[in-house]
Amino acid sequence: MKIYLAAKRGFCAGVNRAVETALEQLHRPENGPVRILHELVHNKTVVESLKKHGCEIVENADDAPAGSILIFSAHGVSEDVETHAKSLPLTVFDATCPLVKQVQNLAAQRSAAGDVILLAGKKNHREVEGILGRIPGEKYLLTSPADAENFSPASGKAYTLLSQTTFFEEDFEKIVQILQEKISLLQIKNTICPSTSARQDAVRRMAAVCDIVIVVGTPNSSNSKRLCEAAISAGAKSLLLSGTSDLPESLWNVRTIGVTSGASASEEEVQQLLQRLLTLPGAEFAGELK
Ligand code: SF4
Repeated sequence: MKIYLAAKRGFCAGVNRAVETALEQLHRPENGPVRILHELVHNKTVVESLKKHGCEIVENADDAPAGSILIFSAHGVSEDVETHAKSLPLTVFDATCPLVKQVQNLAAQRSAAGDVILLAGKKNHREVEGILGRIPGEKYLLTSPADAENFSPASGKAYTLLSQTTFFEEDFEKIVQILQEKISLLQIKNTICPSTSARQDAVRRMAAVCDIVIVVGTPNSSNSKRLCEAAISAGAKSLLLSGTSDLPESLWNVRTIGVTSGASASEEEVQQLLQRLLTLPGAEFAGELK
């Protein structure tokens, strides 16, 4: 059994930045208790580690005690949430990824210019809620190519199509094709993060030489699930495993396994999984795949 690792894997710049922001504040206890609005990143191990350092997650800015530091997660927040948090006796740190901020700003600008905003993204995802909550005018969420098929544009209106930064590249391209047939005044901005695209491309190459691709990540991590979909669409099987999951018996008879990780999974978790895989009968590490 050969085991490959994806060369492009794990923490992206946005996640690193959010974790560093939280750690920096935790190392200054004189500044007050640290609270994070929602999970800082969608990774259980990272969140648990921050909790051990004394960082608590709150679901609402009102739940943070007066005088505490409140950090916005890497996924960003809506304008209402930001305004409310800043009105409270808290010190607010914004760890929103700069690339997510760019999408928020672009959506707000195009909406203010009169365009209807179409956002390709996942329903109820924090990043999507944050972007939609920055758009003053008409907006629609398209979760899939099927939503684009069912969408009825108004004649004479101008539209701008944007995407959640971790949206599935293939689905975005399908949505573009469908909308181009229906809307004459359509501006298309592919705002999928380059880090997300590079990881999805690397997984497709890995899927071409592996029977199964294991993605280290948690079920609520959008970009991790997209990596599984990329592997399946490229012809391999796929499995999403968090650092603490047991290895399923279906792996025992596989000849080639590829391992990658979502943007918020730590290298430590990847190495732990690799070590566990290497205990399987006949398993050997075959190197990194670009
Ligand atoms: S995946 Fe991209 S957009 Fe999302 S946090 Fe990482 S760098 Fe930012």
